[in-house]
Amino acid sequence: MLTQRVNILSESSTIAITALSQELKAQGKDVLSFSAGEPDFGTPQIIKDAAIAAINDNFTKYTAVDGIIELREAIANKLKRDNGLDYAPNQIIVNNGAKHSLFNLFSATIEDGAEVIIPAPYWVTYPELVNYCGGKVIEIQTHDYDLFKITPAQLSSAITPRTKMLILTTPSNPTGSIYSKKELIELGKVLEGTDIIVVSDEIYEKLTYEGEFTSVASVSEDMFKRTVTINGLSKSVAMTGWRFGYMAAHDTALIKATKKLQSQSTSNINSITQKAAIVGLNGSADADIEMMRQAFISRRDEAMKLINEIDGLSVIKPNGAFYLFVNIKDVSSDSLIFVKDLLDKKLVAVVPGVAFGSEGYFRMSFATDINTIRAGIARIAEFVQDLKA
Ligand code: PMP
Ligand code: GLU
Repeated sequence: MLTQRVNILSESSTIAITALSQELKAQGKDVLSFSAGEPDFGTPQIIKDAAIAAINDNFTKYTAVDGIIELREAIANKLKRDNGLDYAPNQIIVNNGAKHSLFNLFSATIEDGAEVIIPAPYWVTYPELVNYCGGKVIEIQTHDYDLFKITPAQLSSAITPRTKMLILTTPSNPTGSIYSKKELIELGKVLEGTDIIVVSDEIYEKLTYEGEFTSVASVSEDMFKRTVTINGLSKSVAMTGWRFGYMAAHDTALIKATKKLQSQSTSNINSITQKAAIVGLNGSADADIEMMRQAFISRRDEAMKLINEIDGLSVIKPNGAFYLFVNIKDVSSDSLIFVKDLLDKKLVAVVPGVAFGSEGYFRMSFATDINTIRAGIARIAEFVQDLKA
């Protein structure tokens, strides 16, 4: 009854583990969950107020499929102000979250074994969507000793005549690595003379702690033309449930194609979210963003220190996002068994490295309060001690 393309699709493991820990909590179990990639903060009041005003003003009808013009202008202004990028509103489309942007983009560009280069560890959704669209995933494995970043030489040897796309995530989920401007320029040089599309997922842009964030499309004219910039507000202003994301591309034909697809599938995103998103983008919530960023820095520092004190575990410092990608190679060769046993025995939920394409690690989010982080890592320490006993 079901199609081959849906049969090969796996459920999002990050969402599945989060749902399982919520289920266990509902049964009264004292589960400490570090699985969800979601800020624990509420959406800033100023954004909520804009949404309430939109409802009261009856801004509750269908809108333009690609988003109201004020919103696309607010995105264009943001991309200019923060990233030095010149996109016009017709080079931008608003989608139901960055995940939906990726779905539309891949649907419009990938078919028949087109090769998509994905550095591993990667966010769980990329390979699933590539496979769903009939593409072929080409992984480039990175490691903690190279700070989980691909080199120009690795990229060069992954390219074939069938390469359609390269996906970059900076800052990265799950590792928190950030590509410097110099590194991006070098990667860009490898692509010169090809038709390869670069997808730059910049959803964690505002959660940069060390080093400078550089938008991939900004490093050269050649990169600007080939890059599709993906971003949203889920992480920066804690709007995961509102469903707002966008893509921006030099190629207006690409934006038009995804608009056509969206017009026949979801239509415009929620009208109320659109009004709220303008406030999230125009700088009005900057103080809230800074407050959350500072909180993430102190949680990261403490979580990292506590993990590195556990004999057998180690983690490199994530310069962005809100995850620790913890190396467990000294104590386990199977991250899935490790996380299942950890949940079973100590009621701590984390995500296995294998879900991100890198065996020998687990991912824990530090977007949760410090007491939960301390208690959770204490349980992880006991668990590892038992493993070694
Ligand atoms: N990209 C990355 C790297 C993510 O971690 C997420 C988190 N879900 C997304 C995109 C999608 O975010 P959303 O659909 O909530 O905008
Ligand atoms: N991106 C988040 C994560 O990696 C949210 C869950 C998801 O959309 O997969 O946990």
